[in-house]
Amino acid sequence: MKLPIYMDNHSTTPCDPRVVDAMLPYFTEKFGNSASRNHSFGWEAEEGVDTARKQIAKLINADSKEIVFTSGATESNNLALKGVAEMYREKGDHIITSSTEHRAVIDPAKSLEKKGVKVTYLSVDKTGTVNPDDVRNAITDKTILISIMLANNEIGTINPIKEIGKIAKEKGVLFHCDATQGVGKIPVNVQELGVDLMSFSAHKIYGPKGIGALYVRRRAPRVRLVPMLDGGGHERGMRSGTLPVPLIVGFGKAAELCEQEMATESVRMMALRDRLKAGIMGAMEEVYLNGHPTERLPGNLNISFAYVEGEALLMGVKEIALSSGSACTSATLEPSYVLRALGVGSDLAHSSIRFGIGRFTTEEEVDYTIDRMLKAVNHLREMSPLYEMAKEGIDLSTVEWAAH
Ligand SMILES: *Cc1c(COP(=O)(O)O)cnc(C)c1O
Repeated sequence: MKLPIYMDNHSTTPCDPRVVDAMLPYFTEKFGNSASRNHSFGWEAEEGVDTARKQIAKLINADSKEIVFTSGATESNNLALKGVAEMYREKGDHIITSSTEHRAVIDPAKSLEKKGVKVTYLSVDKTGTVNPDDVRNAITDKTILISIMLANNEIGTINPIKEIGKIAKEKGVLFHCDATQGVGKIPVNVQELGVDLMSFSAHKIYGPKGIGALYVRRRAPRVRLVPMLDGGGHERGMRSGTLPVPLIVGFGKAAELCEQEMATESVRMMALRDRLKAGIMGAMEEVYLNGHPTERLPGNLNISFAYVEGEALLMGVKEIALSSGSACTSATLEPSYVLRALGVGSDLAHSSIRFGIGRFTTEEEVDYTIDRMLKAVNHLREMSPLYEMAKEGIDLSTVEWAAH
């Protein structure tokens, strides 16, 4: 086993070597501009893009004409929210989203609020799930867009997208889904889910960084968007700019591999995740699972270790790449707004660690991680006066701390 161990696959994933192999010729021999219509270099590049578009469309059961390439899910989310808000301004000025969305949805929503758009941020239950009835109740005759994520990037909770899609359709409201964590990991079918727009990204599915897509429905309804960039009118006018052909070819290959291997891969990842969960939670007291017990991504595990600071824990296991519920959202070490939205207290939110199992995670790495986590948590707790008091049976909530 090689150190360090990478167990942060929600942040990004390594490129699959098969993806790199597929990309390489497009940097050198096949370097043409896919928009060059009058020579073989252009045709060759265009062929690479076409193949990739089909591979990506197949993974989500879309038509390849419905795939708009962007620089990643952040751009896709911005294009969906801002593009719809601007295009349908006459129709209405209200957007519905949820409080546990990725910053790449929350921040464009906030920016639209500054321009007069009204945004409803739905709360979630203690598993992190959006209630479809809340979506229904929030819809007004001014609602132009619903944006709810498929799977959460911190806690892995999978939302009832199909139910929300039905409600959106029934009410005639466009439905966008940030599916960045779900695509390639669990079956995603845009027809079944009833989504009109959907964001996802190559680097979360063992493809290259800097390329993503926005699925834009072409029929029933035909979704229109105001583009964010003016230029050559690429991507049906929705996203101008010369296509990064090597990245797109890699994205396509990554999508094809996910499509072919998802069934076996998800079972294998779930087994590793459950092994990690049992190894940690079965051997320690005062550890709490965050997120949904069953409706969650196969590779996700999020645990709070009471009486331990997540950041301190990460420093204690430096040879394992993990994420804490404090660091990822801000530079000021605020506890994760996602965990807070679930009703997790500030202390336990600060004590949380996200484990992200991926395609290349091994059983050996999982067992090593279990052993190191047990030791590191026990070590930190031994040094914690709070833990000592709790063990002596003192109810910490009744303690009156001296003011400084
Ligand atoms: C990673 C991620 C994003 C941002 O994707 P980029 O391609 O890095 O811009 C957006 N939403 C979710 C849920 C993510 O996990």
